[in-house]
Amino acid sequence: NSIKLENLVQLGKIGSGNSGTVIKALHVPDSRIVAKKTIPVESNNHLVVNQLVRELTIMKSVHMHDNIVSFYGAYYTHASNNEIIILMEYMNCGSLDKILSVYKRHVARHAPSRIVPWFNGLVISKISHGVLNGLLYLYERYKIIHRDIKPSNVLINSKGQVKICDFGVSKKLINSIADTFVGTSTYMSPERIQGNVYSIKGDVWSLGLVIIELVTGEFPLGGHNDTPDGILDLLQRIVNEPSPKLPQGQGYEFPKEMIDFVNRCCVKEESQRSSIQELLCHDFIDMYKSRDKDYKHWCKKVKVRIREDKQIRREDNERAKLEQM
Ligand code: ATP
Ligand code: MG
Repeated sequence: NSIKLENLVQLGKIGSGNSGTVIKALHVPDSRIVAKKTIPVESNNHLVVNQLVRELTIMKSVHMHDNIVSFYGAYYTHASNNEIIILMEYMNCGSLDKILSVYKRHVARHAPSRIVPWFNGLVISKISHGVLNGLLYLYERYKIIHRDIKPSNVLINSKGQVKICDFGVSKKLINSIADTFVGTSTYMSPERIQGNVYSIKGDVWSLGLVIIELVTGEFPLGGHNDTPDGILDLLQRIVNEPSPKLPQGQGYEFPKEMIDFVNRCCVKEESQRSSIQELLCHDFIDMYKSRDKDYKHWCKKVKVRIREDKQIRREDNERAKLEQM
């Protein structure tokens, strides 16, 4: 069931990040939609690159889990430009950062007072459950630590699945080859910023920050009228300031279990922070156990909103173009 690149028809760009570009593509022989990530490679040492592609290919056997984006293959092409291509499962609701920006535009278009927040307790609980399950699987089965949990690496589909992507080997690859600045992320835990030993609990910290960002719409410690002075200032703040928290008052209302859950993720002292296993047993995960159907319904609705948003933006674009003529 391995895919040949020549059997793919490109359907359009999904997004791009520090390392490369992701495209939606159709695998014609079995009508499967896939996500194709292209990473430009600066090294022309084919031995090194081929070794990395081999390592990536090993991942093919690794990721067969409900909460891990399936990996279909890795390729190295040197036809025109040197690039590494990674084929993976396409997630039709996209990443959390994308869903958050669709939501923000939705709020901006309508009267804000009538908008129900998208990321409620149920949704955050299901997302957290999926992320934690995926992290635990990677670690227990393969001793892989994700190290890059952030909204763009958590993906959702309209079947109600939550999956994580972009971990382990691909990071190593990007750092050693593409030579781009990807080592530092603002979702890194205080101990990692300080260069101390890095454990799987660093990903728990990142999950806490992701949750706060989803419900407030802002990266914690970053936004509002107190914008940090560059990335180094922000990293200083993460180390020096008190732990970020869910906001209270100001129209925010969260279940007490959710507040406690986030507090347990966002503990600066690594040894005091809850483990993945502990969090999976937390009441906040448990209390929505029977609500899978409602979550699935939410995902379907999000899919519809994404399509609407795309349509509106296309129309806005066309209007802007006409006005310029
Ligand atoms: P960075 O390069 O800093 O890790 P990133 O995660 O946004 O940032 P990419 O991993 O290249 O960069 O992904 C680009 C975008 O493509 C993501 O933000 C996400 O919205 C989308 N995306 C990635 N993989 C998939 C997938 N399998 N299915 C659907 N959308 C995807
Ligand atoms: Mg990514």
